[in-house]
Amino acid sequence: MESNDYTGRPAGTGARSPRGGSGRRPLSRREAAQALDIPLEMATRHGLPARLSAAELAELERNPPAWLAQSRANRTGKRPVWVELRCYICDFHETARPKKWWPEFDLVVCEFHDTSALPGPAAGWRRSEFDGVGSRFRGIVDTLDP
Ligand SMILES: [Zn+2]
Repeated sequence: MESNDYTGRPAGTGARSPRGGSGRRPLSRREAAQALDIPLEMATRHGLPARLSAAELAELERNPPAWLAQSRANRTGKRPVWVELRCYICDFHETARPKKWWPEFDLVVCEFHDTSALPGPAAGWRRSEFDGVGSRFRGIVDTLDP
């Protein structure tokens, strides 16, 4: 299943990124804003650092500050045109059109990773996993039980 996985993809839409590098590079503020699905200027205004790690981003996703939670609450029902899917573990990423059934993922990982390696949900939160996201991802959502 892992051979020739790029054939047949439409050309020219994906973000061009160096694939050869190993190791996790920090995210730029712009990438973080994309991942958080907020405008870049909002990220800047609220003091998101120019670079942050995937772990810091995941922490923001998990424990959004008030402004971020507010921004998300305000745009309920609005769907972004594009979403960037970025593996929390290996940083593989792609840009995809979100499907109707996708919830807002707290993080995504390639489907072949062992998700038990991920940091668990916060106390009292329940984790749901969604297979078949994008070309190779599994989406993870942590929700707070009422
Ligand atoms: Zn991965």
